[in-house]
Amino acid sequence: MAKCKAKRKYEDQHRTFLEEWEDAFFFIERNGKALCLICNTMISHFKASNLQRHFRTLHAKIDKELPKGTELRQQKLSTLKSQVKRQSQMFQQLTKHGETVTLASYKVAWNIARAKKPYNEGEFLKQCFADVIETLAPDNKKLKDSINDLQLSRHTVETRIADINNVIESDLHADLNACAYFSVALDESCDIEDKPQLAIFARMVSEDCVIKEELLDIVALKDRTRGTDIKEAMTAVFKKANMSFEKLTAIVTDGAPSMIGSVNGLVGLCKGDDAFPEFWNFRFEDLDQKRPQITFLIDPFNADTDCLKTPLVTDEAASELEMIELREDDRLKSLLKEGHVTFWRAVPTEKYPCVKRAALKLLSMFSSTYVCEKLFSTLKHVKSKHRSILTDTHVKELLRYN
Ligand SMILES: [Zn+2]
Repeated sequence: MAKCKAKRKYEDQHRTFLEEWEDAFFFIERNGKALCLICNTMISHFKASNLQRHFRTLHAKIDKELPKGTELRQQKLSTLKSQVKRQSQMFQQLTKHGETVTLASYKVAWNIARAKKPYNEGEFLKQCFADVIETLAPDNKKLKDSINDLQLSRHTVETRIADINNVIESDLHADLNACAYFSVALDESCDIEDKPQLAIFARMVSEDCVIKEELLDIVALKDRTRGTDIKEAMTAVFKKANMSFEKLTAIVTDGAPSMIGSVNGLVGLCKGDDAFPEFWNFRFEDLDQKRPQITFLIDPFNADTDCLKTPLVTDEAASELEMIELREDDRLKSLLKEGHVTFWRAVPTEKYPCVKRAALKLLSMFSSTYVCEKLFSTLKHVKSKHRSILTDTHVKELLRYN
């Protein structure tokens, strides 16, 4: 008995959301609940043990890929947080005239998409709202009228989701236009009906070292998946997003011949195409081989001064001299303690042009793979649940709402 009471008392004292849970479990406080930034699950009790269980059961990988106390983890956290913030700004943008009924229907559509529910759930939800109001506020005619005006037909929900997706997409395209460098990660897989599809992720870095990683597109490949088909699909996506090819630093793929083949594979074909700059290509599992360059990125004071080769730098001799000079820079050295992104942000481009360019290129390349993996498990789920009603566009839209 006493133990039980003590426990309850302990819990009562912890009814507030503790900021440390953000970094520890990737949860933030939202509307009085704890929101998982990875999968959007809401947990209504502010209890460390619940959040911890959720995190350890479902997202244990994050601790491995983005260990606690690292800058990468901080960055991931702030990216995810800003996405949530962006969402509320987006709703304002979509309903400029402040029509609350329209805003409400956007929010319902958003929830439908986020929960990967079929679009026709809108009508069902509307009926539920009406019944709830009828029971809880039978005299509130204004509220009843508003619910009645709420447009939630399948068609409206579809349009709303497309609107939201367009805003997300144009933001992404603007970011890609403004970035210093980007790399892409490609994943070819089959959907539930065994049709091949290609997911393209972009990872970009801005001149001031802000890194973003997003799903750029997901395209159905017509029955064949030769290197040339993949290249064509990828190039079309680049063009649609108005991306400048010369900012491409790396193509990351799996090991399939259609991807890495040196003649007819995607990589070989792109290397032989003048529209493409010199770029790196590596497989997800080969990151280890890039250790000297990763050392340069994380700890330039302990890297070999000659670790920078083309295409990372255009002038290898000049970059070696810059490396030697950089090593003597005590002011910069002391900044490294605050993390390598902070460090590189502070490195002046005028003084260290080659080295700084190389660092930006490397920052645009290396990323965690859990984003891709998460996407593919969601993809299976979405397709298996609603395969009959989904077009490729819808799949992409549903996947973007993470
Ligand atoms: Zn979660």
